[in-house]
Amino acid sequence: MGERIQFVFENAEPRVLPGCRPSKIVCVGRNYVDHAKELGNPVPAEPLIFLKPVSSMIPTGAPIIYPAISEFVSFEGELGVVIGKRTRNVRAEEAEAFIFGYTCVNDVTARDLQKKDGQWSRAKGFDTFCPVGPWIVPRDEVDMSALRIRTFVNGVKKQDAPVGEMIFPVALLIAHISRFMTLEPGDLIATGTPPGVGPLVPGDVVRVEIEGIGALENPVVRE
Ligand code: ZN
Repeated sequence: MGERIQFVFENAEPRVLPGCRPSKIVCVGRNYVDHAKELGNPVPAEPLIFLKPVSSMIPTGAPIIYPAISEFVSFEGELGVVIGKRTRNVRAEEAEAFIFGYTCVNDVTARDLQKKDGQWSRAKGFDTFCPVGPWIVPRDEVDMSALRIRTFVNGVKKQDAPVGEMIFPVALLIAHISRFMTLEPGDLIATGTPPGVGPLVPGDVVRVEIEGIGALENPVVRE
């Protein structure tokens, strides 16, 4: 049995695994049918991949800064996968061995800028737009079939879905991503958000909870 690891930030720099700064955050768009539908998007034929910068990561408790240039900031509660060793061109059947463990992620998104820009780097890349943690639970301690993602805003439940409803499960995502991009130890994969996304406003407290993994809670403050 592995030991759960607290997501540590040293001088605001994430240290995912001991001494290890992640090289990237790889995200998956539209990985739940009902979330694709709620935003009027088609269900993709293969995983839709984008990146968030490591500089957007914050720990539990730290504020999400609501940017002055956005009028619609949304939460996206997601299961995070932390890579344990260098991963390149692995098949889905062997992908699990490359996972260190699981954590909670909030893929905070400026929805208005996402539409306006036509690509997502700014909308999803603001400083503080990737709350993560509070724990990384080793993969052998996690029963994926039992996991549910729940997101609460000010204590009101907004998202509640089994992780098993993902269109592309974790092993397929790792196989797909590692076909074009080397994953390094400590890299984080945000596996997509279930239905129920909605706006945040300054003063809100948003909590992403995955039973057996932990609860990630962050206040929202105006820039
Ligand atoms: Zn997302």
